[in-house]
Amino acid sequence: MKALVLEEYKKLAVNEVPEPTLAPGEVLIRVRSCGICGSDVHGYDGSSGRRIPPVIMGHEASGVIAKLGGEVEGFAEGERVTFDSMISCGRCRFCRTGAPNLCDSRMVLGVSCADYTRNGAFAEYVNVPAHIVYRIPDALSFNEAAMVEPVSVAVHAVNLTPITLGDTALVVGAGMIGLLTVQALRAAGCGTIISTDLADDRLAAAKKMGADVTLNPKSTDIVKAVREMTGGAGVDISMEAVGAEATVATAIDSVRKGGSVTLIGNIAPKIGFGLQSVVTREIAVRGSCASSNDYPACLEMMGRGAMRTADLISATSPLEGGPTMFDRLYNHEPGLTKVILNP
Ligand SMILES: [Zn+2]
Ligand SMILES: [Zn+2]
Repeated sequence: MKALVLEEYKKLAVNEVPEPTLAPGEVLIRVRSCGICGSDVHGYDGSSGRRIPPVIMGHEASGVIAKLGGEVEGFAEGERVTFDSMISCGRCRFCRTGAPNLCDSRMVLGVSCADYTRNGAFAEYVNVPAHIVYRIPDALSFNEAAMVEPVSVAVHAVNLTPITLGDTALVVGAGMIGLLTVQALRAAGCGTIISTDLADDRLAAAKKMGADVTLNPKSTDIVKAVREMTGGAGVDISMEAVGAEATVATAIDSVRKGGSVTLIGNIAPKIGFGLQSVVTREIAVRGSCASSNDYPACLEMMGRGAMRTADLISATSPLEGGPTMFDRLYNHEPGLTKVILNP
């Protein structure tokens, strides 16, 4: 089969490689769409250390079941499906208590690190365990369905956040996850939603996705503006989708006393934060990582248009265009956010 192989850092090539062999419980999927994630771009240049070559990257995908491995029940060849990016063991205490994203021995598709290499979906075929496979609603294209992975990250974070109908919310960062979080907050019944980002084109996208107010910290003191808009109190909830010291501070300082801050972004491994602001104002701060069993709800919402992804896809390309697309993303081509490869 054809696959986009990371041969060495910053060197991708479309090569002929052997088709994956199926372990019991796995299905073979003929990949139709696979999105390039920011983490793939950070892996491409070696900066994350999570894509040690050689490896086939790609974990935001959809396709058609080509073959069922032994012991697989409930699926048939030819079905349109997508799958979780994370391969959980199904046996540890976290898997058994409904948190497979915290699995003790989780592997991420398309990742190659010190502990394991698991080839991903920038290829004609990929093998995945049947327990992470989900059927796609008819209304969704393969490209849209490949977006369920980032959608699930946003939906999971909103699910972890205590929300009451009409709550005011701040979303810090309007990248892919921030934009999807705006939509998920809207679906969850939030009132005024405020989106912030340094880039005005992203703020325009946030408006389209349902944000009521957009603020750029280059020209506005976010915390001050948020307080003015909320009668001096601050928003009920903040969602942080960047992961840096300044943006986490904005999320914490903009929330009201007793409010909740959910942290999704984690670019910086470590930051300082306003301890007294959190303690004396009884702010609940919690982390949110990937998703856990959120795919069925996400696909249902995507199928009826409650979470929209088509507008967030900025380009598509056959697998052969992969090296060029990675290069363009790596060089931060303006306007190029989500790229989907169609093997
Ligand atoms: Zn991803
Ligand atoms: Zn597990």
